[in-house]
Amino acid sequence: MQSEKADAIVIRLADFSNTSRVVTFFTREFGKTTAIAKGGKRLKGPFDSALDLLSTCRIVFLRKSSSALDILTEASLTDRFRPPSDSLNSFYAGCYVAELLGGLTEEYDPHEHLFDASIHALRQFADGNNVHLSLLKFELATLQEIGQLPSFDDCVHCAELIDVEESYTFRVSQGGLVCPRCQHAGSSEHQIQAGTVALLRKLANSSDCFTSRITASPQQLREMRFTLTATVSSILGRRPSSLRYLQF
Ligand SMILES: [Zn+2]
Repeated sequence: MQSEKADAIVIRLADFSNTSRVVTFFTREFGKTTAIAKGGKRLKGPFDSALDLLSTCRIVFLRKSSSALDILTEASLTDRFRPPSDSLNSFYAGCYVAELLGGLTEEYDPHEHLFDASIHALRQFADGNNVHLSLLKFELATLQEIGQLPSFDDCVHCAELIDVEESYTFRVSQGGLVCPRCQHAGSSEHQIQAGTVALLRKLANSSDCFTSRITASPQQLREMRFTLTATVSSILGRRPSSLRYLQF
């Protein structure tokens, strides 16, 4: 068995026995990995209480070659996720990050950029700043990393550049936007204003520090929320469960 070191975020915890836990990590070096933490339930155990949901830690584990679980041998806490006590939204936004990392990435498929984006989003939630915009940015970064970002540049039918018309229809089944000329007459599909599409493009392409300078109207937030919830739900095959607790 090979011993590996990694920077990791705890994305799932389950009891395994009276003393042990099964922990799923999203690591910078290896992507998602699930390991058994023997003694992980003891307060003064070998992992020094590093194993909390959304904690960031430096871990050492024995990598199994078969489908068996890896074995965690060391975990030292780098940062604990501490959302403001009066902001349930910050807490559930963190849970949503864990759910997306668990559901949309594969075991041993590393995504360094997504790891960094996750750390950045968790820090924003912990500060209680721009929770919704930071979450949208995280979702866009995730979709980009897994190659499932919808097209926000042109109509999926006629390839006309988005910006020309006032509003578009988002069609999740076709992975993008449809211009008014390509829509069915009398269609009651969800409309998205061109300004909202421009914001989605900006959020997808901007550097992390830029998010604090982006502002969005309630309607733009609603339209972006609809677009990303529809996209993520379609890939997962279900609506993410943490979303039901988030208030936007
Ligand atoms: Zn078109």
